[in-house]
Amino acid sequence: MALLKIRKFPDDVLKQPAKPVANINGKLSGLIDSMAQTMYAAPGVGLAAPQVGESQRVIVIDTDHENPGKHLLKLINPEIVEAEGKIIWEEGCLSVIDYNADVERSQRVLVRAWTPEEKQIEIEADELLAVALQHEIDHLDGKLFIDRISRIKRELYKRKLNKMIKEGKADLERPSKVRI
Ligand SMILES: [Zn+2]
Repeated sequence: MALLKIRKFPDDVLKQPAKPVANINGKLSGLIDSMAQTMYAAPGVGLAAPQVGESQRVIVIDTDHENPGKHLLKLINPEIVEAEGKIIWEEGCLSVIDYNADVERSQRVLVRAWTPEEKQIEIEADELLAVALQHEIDHLDGKLFIDRISRIKRELYKRKLNKMIKEGKADLERPSKVRI
């Protein structure tokens, strides 16, 4: 199983709404397993298929990196069916180089999805798991967390990124904060 290349903003695939999965098959399971490996290696607590260049509605999430695999969620066609409350969380993203910002999300969500075993499941989540689910489902809608911050902050980030790219610093590894 190979680690997959993580696409970075402003890659076009990150802006496209991903297609619903119509068939759960071996090829899809292989992709999901490679996504999980890539997420742990990054390290990140979540990864959506568009982040590895696959425009499909598939995400993996694990908020418990002390026991890798034990609470791993592999979700196909995930949907938020209920949401309540507000929470502000400092988010980062494997596809957004060297940047964190406070983002307002729902505090609790109920998510319905399919598993690779073709079972339909519901997940009730709060705190980091709720944030991660919303962040990853945003990826499936072609949205990044920097689309949820003020325009000024976003423009400042773009300027910083362009400077890093010009100076050849955008490809440096930065294993730092929690990234989703
Ligand atoms: Zn992300």
